Amino acid sequence: MYNLIAVSMGEIALKGKNRGYFEKKLTDRIKRNIKEFKNVSVFKDQGKVFIEPANLEDVDGIIEKVRKIFGIVLLSPCIKVEKSVEAIEKKVLELFDYLVKNNGIKSFKIQTNRTDKDFEIKSLDFNKKLGGLILDNFSDARVDVHNPDVYIYLDIKTDCYIYSEKIKTVGGLPIGTNGKGLLLLSGGIDSPVAGYMMAKRGVEIEALYFHTYPFSSERANEKVKKLRDLLEDYCGKIRLRSINMLEIHKAIKANCEEKNTTILARRFMMKIAERIARENEIDILITGESLGQVASQTIESMCVIENAVEIPIVKPLIGMDKTEIVKISKDIETFETSILPYEDCCQIFAPKHPATKPKLENILKDESNLDVQNLIDVVLQTEEINYN
Ligand code: ATP
Ligand code: MG
Repeated sequence: MYNLIAVSMGEIALKGKNRGYFEKKLTDRIKRNIKEFKNVSVFKDQGKVFIEPANLEDVDGIIEKVRKIFGIVLLSPCIKVEKSVEAIEKKVLELFDYLVKNNGIKSFKIQTNRTDKDFEIKSLDFNKKLGGLILDNFSDARVDVHNPDVYIYLDIKTDCYIYSEKIKTVGGLPIGTNGKGLLLLSGGIDSPVAGYMMAKRGVEIEALYFHTYPFSSERANEKVKKLRDLLEDYCGKIRLRSINMLEIHKAIKANCEEKNTTILARRFMMKIAERIARENEIDILITGESLGQVASQTIESMCVIENAVEIPIVKPLIGMDKTEIVKISKDIETFETSILPYEDCCQIFAPKHPATKPKLENILKDESNLDVQNLIDVVLQTEEINYN
């Protein structure tokens, strides 16, 4: 029935001088997300974006891909008709017949939006005319202006677009409209969700993964890459950097108290991340920490970790329960990959009895046994950058 898709953007995206810029970003994202479908045209008609596949069977598949784009609030499968009263009437009857047969609807309301003021019939008059036509042709049909089974919308632009469904999508703000964040991406459940949450508010994401090859496996690397790939449907392209932390873990093990291992390693991660962020014009770090979830996520631990850097560390999951995080992770389809068993570095070098209430002065004292700058320089040599 439907031959194209109408895309509605959020109000905020459309405000002010940046409108053209946001629309360009969004249409680029749409094209990228649907590149597996051949012969699709993405075009604008009087302020609205439409996606028109050559193959009608692609409509549902395209909707599944496009519904993940932040900044889009609604999608409507619709029918494009030439702007003649006769052609529109014919299509409205066809659509109504389709809706009666497939959805068993009876009551309806027509809502015309005439962007093209040259069109010969005014919106309200056209509503009445088309309503009368449906009543004449379907004996069970009735008009209900307050609570109809179905709305039939007509957008009269260069062409006329007829649709009845408005599919709510992820919303949020278009990627790239709120700066850049470096996501510390482990293979766990939380950090992919944290990246998703910040991207939803318009932050462009790069990712950083610390491993301890050969103590962590190649499969752990593959798992993180897979998580990055899954996030890309929402976040757009994500550059993934991997760094081998082994030398740092060895130095900590040899020179520091075992119970401080995790905190010290986390401070190194933040320092390295800060350096990469500064060198690449990235504004913030993003982590998947949730208050109280594990030993390194008590208030005391987080304060000591944060103290290592000056760059803001944003933690979008800080006040969420694990069940809430898991729910989002399932919704965005990263969960199944996150629970694969391959270990990342921190589990392997985790102390048996980690400090849960570390004191900054003790940690700094322990850290002073290490040549911090040199260790950072050494592990940065192992940096690999992966870009799809
Ligand atoms: P996650 O589910 O994201 O792995 P977690 O519950 O395992 O989180 P921690 O291990 O305490 O929690 O890690 C807290 C945060 O620190 C992670 O969400 C992530 O942002 C960052 N982090 C931890 N380990 C790594 C790693 N190996 N590489 C990159 N970032 C990491
Ligand atoms: Mg983890």
